[in-house]
Amino acid sequence: MLDQSLKNQVAEYFKLLEKEVVISVDLDDTENSRDLKKFLDELGGLSDKIKIKEEELKFKPSFSLSSDSSSGINFAGIPLGHEFESFILAILQVGGRPPKIDDKTRERIMAIEDEMNFETMVSLSCHNCPEVVQSLNIMAVINPKISHTMVDGSVFTDYVEDLGVLAVPTTYVNGEIFNRGKISLNEILNKIKKEEVDLRLEEKPIYDCLVIGGGPGGATAAIYAARKGITTALVAEEFGGQVKETLAIENITGIAYTEGPKYMEDVKAHLDKYKVEVIEGLSVTGIERDEKLKILTDKGNLFARTIVIATGAKWRLIGIPGEIEFRNKGVAYCTHCDGPLFRGKKVTVIGGGNSGIEAAIDLASIAREVLVLEFLPELKADKLLQDKLRGFKNVKIVTNAETQALSGEKFLEKITYKDRVSGQVIEEATDGCFIQVGLVPMTEWLDNVKKNPRGEIIVNEFGATNLEGIYGAGDCTNSAFKQIVIAEGSGATAALGAYNYLMTKGN
Ligand SMILES: Cc1cc2nc3c(=O)[nH]c(=O)nc-3n(C[C@H](O)[C@H](O)[C@H](O)COP(=O)(O)OP(=O)(O)OC[C@H]3O[C@@H](n4cnc5c(N)ncnc54)[C@H](O)[C@@H]3O)c2cc1C
Repeated sequence: MLDQSLKNQVAEYFKLLEKEVVISVDLDDTENSRDLKKFLDELGGLSDKIKIKEEELKFKPSFSLSSDSSSGINFAGIPLGHEFESFILAILQVGGRPPKIDDKTRERIMAIEDEMNFETMVSLSCHNCPEVVQSLNIMAVINPKISHTMVDGSVFTDYVEDLGVLAVPTTYVNGEIFNRGKISLNEILNKIKKEEVDLRLEEKPIYDCLVIGGGPGGATAAIYAARKGITTALVAEEFGGQVKETLAIENITGIAYTEGPKYMEDVKAHLDKYKVEVIEGLSVTGIERDEKLKILTDKGNLFARTIVIATGAKWRLIGIPGEIEFRNKGVAYCTHCDGPLFRGKKVTVIGGGNSGIEAAIDLASIAREVLVLEFLPELKADKLLQDKLRGFKNVKIVTNAETQALSGEKFLEKITYKDRVSGQVIEEATDGCFIQVGLVPMTEWLDNVKKNPRGEIIVNEFGATNLEGIYGAGDCTNSAFKQIVIAEGSGATAALGAYNYLMTKGN
């Protein structure tokens, strides 16, 4: 089940174990149970500090980890794919290697007094799931009142269907919904008990350059500004941007392959080498010109001589009835994450551009039937992708289709669209709908800077906007293409433009 090089790697990790780890396993007579037994036997053979025993547990097949006492960590299913790292980390933590968190976070976890039994529904191909699983496992290993079970939705299909989960990760606590989607350890702790952090914005200096946005565009702008020796800050609602939602990245020059979360960790480590004040958890709501530039945020104001706006973009809504109501109840955006929950079902993809056709190709090998709806008379995706999609027998492509509504009782059941040539209104049964109609720039909060009809900030060759001292970079601007290296290039341009402005006109 595991190849030799992976086994060698795992054996090296297991040498770090400081104490015995007991894996208590509950199996039945299914293929999944046989696979789980094989998986655990192979791993058990890699260290004499791993012991395996049988025990009755809530899920079959599943296992729990314990050492001197129960760790509260359980895995229902086989934690392969993106959850393999979660499993190895859990074993190490239960085996005496402390999780890498700061003292304050540890104290906040230990201070939780209520019994909290978490369950997270995941798919093994979901790249947003491990952060949630690993965060809750850390909480379980630190606080005996907390337990956490990772539940593989493609193994426990009935359980997940009964709960009505159609998007992963979805987390329950004590049987009640806790969170849908990705959530960090800090956000989990804030959800349990809000921590009032005083960012002391009034004590901050007037920055030479303040960057808004923590994606690749903003991070690069901040690095370039700091390297010029000017006082620099980067504020963001959350560091990482869209790249954190991305699985495989194969088009960053010099990096043949990486994954989104890993890449943004590397970018953060690079940024941390410079004197940049990073303020996360801050939402910018406007910019005014006071004596200096005044940046309005949800937690107070900041001041700067120049600003680089790099607030990126988010999924575009199509604005039809049912789109919001059935979100996570059939309406989804990420095929890597949620695709496996639609195994054997009928799904629809709206959008015939590259992202839509890539999504349809992914889904064609999972779902029973895939319907692709494109508004225009022809698909806009690259020919190579179109040819690949047409090779699947379970895919139906409809062009000139105007989607009108998504409907159902509790969950999505039906999609209604109009044939734009004949005018005929057609209803099709569908279990899921992946909306892939592009991105919208995150610039609604900005009213005084000139934007194009799409809402993108208009910048010139120096990254400058129509307002003195204000620059733009990345997906929120009118750049012809939206890509990581393009956002980074424009971040560099904007920071250098801002620096030149300071040197010539700024004060
Ligand atoms: C699923 C997916 C797959 C992709 N795959 C690839 C790929 O393989 N290769 C590639 O080159 N590109 C890919 N892209 C595109 C790439 O991710 C973007 O082009 C890039 O992230 C744009 O960077 P950015 O810095 O402009 O903005 P973003 O990455 O969107 O970052 C925006 C930042 O601004 C912050 N922010 C937003 N509004 C505010 C506010 N009001 N106040 C404070 N902060 C705010 C956000 O929290 C975030 O930190 C993909 C995109 C998606 C969605």
